[in-house]
Amino acid sequence: MTRRLGIACGVIGAAIAGVLGAELIGCTESAPGPRNVIIISLDTVRRDHLPTYGYARPTAPFVDSLARDALVFDRAFAQETNTNPSHTSMFTGLYPPAHGSVANGVRLGADQTVLAQILRAAGYRTGGFVSGATLQERASGLSRGFDRYDDEFPGLRRDGMETVKRARAWLSEGSAEQPFFLFVHLYDAHGPYLPPAGYVGLFQSAEDGPWIERIPDYQRVPDKNGRLVHHANWYVDRYDAMIRYEDDCVRGLLKGQDLERSIVVVLSDHGETFHERYGSLGHGAEVHDEQTRIPLLIRVPGLPHARRSEFTETVDLLPTLTDLLGLPSDPAVQGHSLIAPNQNLGDREFVFASARPADSHYADRGYRLDRTRRIHSIRSDRWKLIRLPGRETDYVELYDLTADPGEQSDVAAAHPELRDELRARLAAWTSLRGADGPVPETMDPAVLNQLQSLGYVGD
Ligand SMILES: [Zn+2]
Repeated sequence: MTRRLGIACGVIGAAIAGVLGAELIGCTESAPGPRNVIIISLDTVRRDHLPTYGYARPTAPFVDSLARDALVFDRAFAQETNTNPSHTSMFTGLYPPAHGSVANGVRLGADQTVLAQILRAAGYRTGGFVSGATLQERASGLSRGFDRYDDEFPGLRRDGMETVKRARAWLSEGSAEQPFFLFVHLYDAHGPYLPPAGYVGLFQSAEDGPWIERIPDYQRVPDKNGRLVHHANWYVDRYDAMIRYEDDCVRGLLKGQDLERSIVVVLSDHGETFHERYGSLGHGAEVHDEQTRIPLLIRVPGLPHARRSEFTETVDLLPTLTDLLGLPSDPAVQGHSLIAPNQNLGDREFVFASARPADSHYADRGYRLDRTRRIHSIRSDRWKLIRLPGRETDYVELYDLTADPGEQSDVAAAHPELRDELRARLAAWTSLRGADGPVPETMDPAVLNQLQSLGYVGD
């Protein structure tokens, strides 16, 4: 791979050559390639709300222009529907049970290695700029490996434009000789949706849309008459405006950057439910597709645009980047490179996801959930099995995604053999990853308070 792209020269090549020998890594000074790495995480952005994935509204014209030169992954899935465990899977290449940050507020264990550490060891200047409290160092432990981790802001979130301003200032301080790794996390599309001036009313539905019975406290924004709105489209319009705002943030971030020397990744950590099911408007307590299916595009100088349809997961991000940069990959990493020719991802049959149990989201079904364990799912092209941890017994649901892509009808009783087979596969996955242990209760009370304010702790 390194030889094909000729990208492991300079600082990176020197670092690797010391270990492997220059001939083995195929370093050629005459073939300059991408050096910098820019990862942009659009928190809570649904795949199907981007024009790149067919959305009719122009929510993200700039990201769409990037996508036209990028690898666009049509079936990418997040490992978790909560911010911290999902990002930790991106940065470790491990499923949440393996990296241990299984919930918001549970910090990454000291024994885990993250992408920023790998790149810093390879000579990179590393900067992380986050916009939500769940990714602050004290809540996530994700600052390791970053020369600068900018996570201090009053309250629970920072405006994306401010985060971009800080990231650009950091970029301007660097030397052209040293490659950089920049991680920018934008939180504007996370509820409550509060479009700034100029974005209010950008998208206006002609219809009210379905009624949402339960509006979580953190999502309660009164309308101009001071009333709480229950109609879905009022929220969708504002959410879409926030995606447009983030798109302008991304445009501002990349303005003037040399994209021919940078790998640019744009993805989200999970989606959002509006009206698709009972007890929602939010994320984190379900593993249905509107929350697990994410946008993922990787723009690599020299690689032509392509739409890719194989199953991909966020654990694949780290091995893909180390592969592109010609860096050795850790055999413990559970994801697969999306670039390496020897990885036949067409063979990947299943993707996995997890979430936190919350009784309020399943009150229509009368579930009594065990909050010390996680919800897990296994999904194939056609079927999804969800196992929810019960206080007395676990609950199992099965969805036929071909007949019922909205996951409305549990057909587990009609397909007992398939249910048992998928359940056994999921059990093998959870035991393999050590997934079924209780969530550690080591949370800093201040962090717990923050999570409550963001709707992550309820019931
Ligand atoms: Zn998130």
